[in-house]
Amino acid sequence: MAAQILVVEDEPHIQELISVNLTRAGHAVRCAPDAEQAREMMQRSLPDLLLLDWMLPGMTGVEFTRLLRSETRTRDIPIIMLSARIEERDKISGLEVGADDYITKPFSPRELIARIAVILRRRVPQVTAEVVRVAGLVLDPAAKTVIAKGQPLSLGSTEFRLLHFLVTHTDRVYSRSQLLDHVWGPEFVGDDRTVDVHISRLRNALLPAGLDHVIRTVRGSGYSLSAA
Ligand code: CA
Repeated sequence: MAAQILVVEDEPHIQELISVNLTRAGHAVRCAPDAEQAREMMQRSLPDLLLLDWMLPGMTGVEFTRLLRSETRTRDIPIIMLSARIEERDKISGLEVGADDYITKPFSPRELIARIAVILRRRVPQVTAEVVRVAGLVLDPAAKTVIAKGQPLSLGSTEFRLLHFLVTHTDRVYSRSQLLDHVWGPEFVGDDRTVDVHISRLRNALLPAGLDHVIRTVRGSGYSLSAA
């Protein structure tokens, strides 16, 4: 399970410790020393998960979490808050503003990695290798195979990633720019047409199994995959 993780931590040795261990666990890690720089990095590319220190110079981790939760683009990013503060009320206020989990320093790298895995499985299922069964489809991320009503599909890598994202986020409407963000990454230079082209290829691939209808076009909004 490899995820893009952004570590926001102002203490260099802790940043280094986290970075080394997460990289060893297979994750792609970027680091920022404060919320302002983290925000800049997130303009370019959204991470799968944010590890956020509570006590930061400038905006605190709690304030930053509140800000991220208030904006559409960043509202759903999983956040694990790190803190040396051990008081229960601090933990509660971290979770109240929308953090997914809270880890108290000092922590063991093994515990951190395990807690990240739990959050990723729950919140970012498209980066895990778990087999997904939905709407007559069986998608195996590790084997890179898709079976549609018993028939194996041949998909390009972009169609595969697009389908993986949709089957792990069923019954929600995603705009073309959200799909570009999640499936292609914001560094990709393309436009809405790109998404339409790949959705069309995906539907064509699903057509022989009679499953092309599972991907709905929501006029004026985007696309959605129906689980039922
Ligand atoms: Ca700190």
